Amino acid sequence: MFKEDTIAAITTGMSNAGVGIIRISGDKSCEITDKIFRAANKNKKASNMKSYTAAFGGIYDGNNLLDEAIVLVMKAPHTYTCEDVCELQCHGGIVVLRKILELVIRNGARAAEPGEFTKRAFLGGRIDLSQAESVMDLINAKNEFAARTSVEQLQGKLRDKIIDMREKILYNVAFIESALDDPEHYSLDGFPQKLDNDVDNLVDSVDNLLTTFDDGRVLSEGINTVIIGKPNAGKSSLLNMFVGEERAIVTDMAGTTRDTLSEVINIRGITLNIVDTAGIRYTEDVVEKIGVDKALESVDKADLILYVVDSSTKLDENDQRIIDRIKNRNVVVILNKSDLNTVIDKKTIQKYIEAEIIQLSALTGDGSEELYDLLNNMFFEGHLSYNDQLYITNTRHKNELMCTKNALMKVKESIDMGMEEDFFSIDLMDAYEHLGLIIGETARDDLADKIFREFCMGK
Ligand code: GDP
Repeated sequence: MFKEDTIAAITTGMSNAGVGIIRISGDKSCEITDKIFRAANKNKKASNMKSYTAAFGGIYDGNNLLDEAIVLVMKAPHTYTCEDVCELQCHGGIVVLRKILELVIRNGARAAEPGEFTKRAFLGGRIDLSQAESVMDLINAKNEFAARTSVEQLQGKLRDKIIDMREKILYNVAFIESALDDPEHYSLDGFPQKLDNDVDNLVDSVDNLLTTFDDGRVLSEGINTVIIGKPNAGKSSLLNMFVGEERAIVTDMAGTTRDTLSEVINIRGITLNIVDTAGIRYTEDVVEKIGVDKALESVDKADLILYVVDSSTKLDENDQRIIDRIKNRNVVVILNKSDLNTVIDKKTIQKYIEAEIIQLSALTGDGSEELYDLLNNMFFEGHLSYNDQLYITNTRHKNELMCTKNALMKVKESIDMGMEEDFFSIDLMDAYEHLGLIIGETARDDLADKIFREFCMGK
């Protein structure tokens, strides 16, 4: 049904730029382009151009020239959407792009919904759902790791793994069905033991993927970090030190619900999502108390706590309050102001809290290398070398894998209890379907719609 209409959108960003692209996809792409585009070489028309060729000319609304453009023609089925696609490469001014898009729509296209081009690629069977999701992940990648895992997924690494697991399940289901239908030729003797073994291997594969999720999330989304410490300990100075070191500040994406007080910082491939907290001290001031409570609250949600101590002054009851709250968490104590006469050293702190300790001067940057090395070891343990491990970073995939595992565990239970073979089939099929949801094989329309709605415009 979707083939009936032709869609169009501005596929480049909504800011003035050198070049802006309008993509048209569907049966009428060439016909619409022919109505509005006059090639400098008068013989050239989108409809008679070969696939993957381009023409230079002008975009006209009647006799009114709107812009000069290059038209790129790509014909079905080997295109992004599997349909005929024309791309109008114009100048990247928002006003001119909007006018041209309007013109395209007046001539027979419909404005594309967010993600609709990729949805067509999925419906056309060119990519599976996990690949479609990776397109968006790649666009939103905050760091090198996220970009790399997205590209791997885009190439179908996860899909291949899932298809492999599904085939193994299906083989066993088919065997059970055949044996029940045709007991003369297929024997179920010893089958439960063999199935038990196969299911163990499948559970191992699922577990392997599941264990990558936390690392994958931290690597791609960043380490949720809280900087905490008494006023004047040097929290803001530490944050400034990070900002000074980073290669690129990643701005918040629209639609994420990040606190406005947070900073996203990339240092040597590590992304820190830093929540800035108010200084912690006992206070009668209600407003300040709210700040302190909030700071302590954010501690509970953090992956990493950077506890900043002014090592040139003694610890007091405020430090004790902080220490009580952060004990047993992932803490790095920063003994700050190492450039001054220090009264607190590692030994002193170790009496109160078991944690990694770094001596540092936020002012001069001395000790920062040790801190970055430590973070690298704490969170990545060599992962940043990008080994071949396939990472799960998408929560939807994780949930489907958990359901798959539950279903497989039920198969094992049935085997243990000596149940009839058709009981195995039911749970095996359940596992098969949950795996299918990851790649969109068993996806219902509403799931696909939900996923594509979260895409950006023009993709
Ligand atoms: P915050 O209240 O914890 O955010 O502390 P600030 O970052 O505002 O720092 C408080 C004071 O300590 C400022 O005057 C900083 O210049 C100073 N300070 C911070 N870090 C260092 C350091 O490593 N060495 C020295 N000598 N002073 C520092």
